[in-house]
Amino acid sequence: MSVDLLTALVNTAPVGAAVLDTTLRYRWVNGTLCAMNGHSAEEHLGRLPSELLGELGAQLETLLRQVLRDNDPLLNYYFGGRRPGAAGYWMGSYYPLRNAAGELIGIGAIVTDVTEHERTSARERQFLTGLVQVAQAVASHADSQEVLAVVAREAAEMLDLDGAVVASFHPDGVSLEGRWGNVTVVSEPGTVLPTATMPVTELVRGTGQPQRQVTEAPDAFGFRSRVAAPILVEGALWGAVKAGSPRMVALPDDAEVRLGRFADLVGLAVANATEQRRLIEQASRDALTGLRNRRAFQERIASEAQRATRHVTSFSLVLLDIDEFKAVNDIHGHDVGDEVLVEVARRLCEEVRAEDLIARIGGEEFAWILPDVGSAGALMAAERARLLIADTPFRDVGPVTVSAGVANFEEAGDADLLFRQADRALYEAKRRGRNRCVRHSDLGDGCVREPAGRARSARVAEQAHALPALRALARAIDAKDPATFQHSERVAQLARQLADLLGWPRPRALALRDAALLHDVGKIGIPEQLLFKPGPLTSEEYEQVKTHARLSCQIAREVVNPEQAAWILHHHERWDGGGYPAGLAGEEIPDGAQLLALADAWDAMTVARPYGEPLSQTEALRECLTAAGRQFAPAAVDALRTLAPTDPRADGPRARRTGLAASPGRSPVATTRAGAALPADIRPMTEAARVAPGRTVRPFPAGGSCQ
Ligand code: GH3
Ligand code: MG
Ligand code: MG
Repeated sequence: MSVDLLTALVNTAPVGAAVLDTTLRYRWVNGTLCAMNGHSAEEHLGRLPSELLGELGAQLETLLRQVLRDNDPLLNYYFGGRRPGAAGYWMGSYYPLRNAAGELIGIGAIVTDVTEHERTSARERQFLTGLVQVAQAVASHADSQEVLAVVAREAAEMLDLDGAVVASFHPDGVSLEGRWGNVTVVSEPGTVLPTATMPVTELVRGTGQPQRQVTEAPDAFGFRSRVAAPILVEGALWGAVKAGSPRMVALPDDAEVRLGRFADLVGLAVANATEQRRLIEQASRDALTGLRNRRAFQERIASEAQRATRHVTSFSLVLLDIDEFKAVNDIHGHDVGDEVLVEVARRLCEEVRAEDLIARIGGEEFAWILPDVGSAGALMAAERARLLIADTPFRDVGPVTVSAGVANFEEAGDADLLFRQADRALYEAKRRGRNRCVRHSDLGDGCVREPAGRARSARVAEQAHALPALRALARAIDAKDPATFQHSERVAQLARQLADLLGWPRPRALALRDAALLHDVGKIGIPEQLLFKPGPLTSEEYEQVKTHARLSCQIAREVVNPEQAAWILHHHERWDGGGYPAGLAGEEIPDGAQLLALADAWDAMTVARPYGEPLSQTEALRECLTAAGRQFAPAAVDALRTLAPTDPRADGPRARRTGLAASPGRSPVATTRAGAALPADIRPMTEAARVAPGRTVRPFPAGGSCQ
């Protein structure tokens, strides 16, 4: 090769290259490094890095001295900082240079500028953190305004803008549902505003697409720069999320795409909330009195407990029981008894505020939750209600009385104890002669509570509460595509069956089932184009898909124990160490993750083939047997073998429908639909071999933390 060619090659190579002597002065640099450092070749020659690059150069010299001293290369050293020109991040390899006689004569340096890559991944990290926050808010069952405020906050922070709003569309305008940050307050939540005041929102409504605008005149929220994306709920345009700034700023290039992904999640949250409201409304009333029923009471007391714990507020509980009610029935008959119940309920309602909840929780027992009311206030309210009942005789029956027990959350510390304390007070009221109200704190035996215990039980209550919401979220994510519909449920069922077969104790098998239900919740962080991509994934896309394991773990660990979180984190590890995220191998992989990986792959094979028809059970089992000891834990595959029928006659669509994973009958449209779910292991088996051979770097310690 000619010297010219060689010079051209090293000068324009996409990496910076330099040679320094043993006094750390530059002796040669290529053109790329000159551009990176913002100095010409002449300026470099004979100078020290610190003379050209300031503080960053001084740091570099320390490193280079170390290379000379140890006579050992320093590879892929990552550093960031400020050069005279700009701040950035670099990856450098520095190695000792020796002459033919083996004497040290200097240092060779190869440097890559990774600033852009670093910026992108920092943005991506921030984006994912935002999604996790929103998912957790959705899962916490917080009321929808609270969730939507979190959505607004994360949307604004993700795009580095000053404020954001979530608005729903109505025939005659839009209604502000949540807001965060620097936003002009235009109305109270729920008020409908004409859309003409919000041109971007109007555009979103008209086109169903994300939109951006930068104008001198601010919109109704005071934004001069703004970007908005549509929120779809079950396929219909529900509203928009809009982030903006009162200043005229350059919006990030991909603002629409990222905001769109956020909006998807909001759509899920809204759909969940709407569905839950509907179901709760249906199932939460008592037919006789029209009051809320026991179930509604239990849900409300749990959410009040959660709210009180979170915001350090309190609430009171009053339990009321009709005195000698059996006698009313015995003397006047059951129908008259029923009328008394209805009348008691009506009178109680007169004392109940809008924010209270009163429920019929038993035959002639009522529970009354008073948010933000201390025990003295609750005792007074109970007393008023008692008098309303006792003072006016009932038709056909005459006087009816009630007894009541009052307790306060601040004293109890958790919902169960609160109920027991109110119940004890009620019992005491009965014992003292009925027709009276007794407050638990007046009983004098003061159930001493242990502060740590309180925190723990509050956390348990919170977890118990968030789990169903998170499951609903996972279900909703699976349901986005027919190919993954009910995927998590099937995987959970199979993982549990495998655990049973392997002799796991029941609580652990159930814990595995619970973890499995959430194993893919991190898919919220994967753009839909990737989830449903018909063809093979590029290696970057695959890298992105791989993040879902860690993301699932991050979201789920709020509601599961650390062992369950590790199962979720490692559900894409391979027995041979070629999986992700940690590249664990063999028994390093937590046992639950071994079973989860197999169950996940089984479901992908038998239900959702990315490139065509699902495998029959026999074919799938054959594939699992072949992959035992490579992709899957041998013991897990053994267990699977006892579950799956190997009889070829059991093959075919009918067998699949009645198969062990209880997959639903899938329509031909759904099964032939290309581009199924996230690739479960069956897909990476081919994909990984091509794009990610061998063991990957270990971003996590073997124990598995998803920090
Ligand atoms: P105490 O003062 O100790 O509460 O006495 P009590 O008789 O009210 O209590 P007990 O729990 O012994 O009896 C409750 C009665 O309530 C028994 C049952 O006949 C009646 N009951 C429960 N549900 C209904 C209902 O839906 N309709 C009617 N009419 N009666 C009911
Ligand atoms: Mg009674
Ligand atoms: Mg009773």
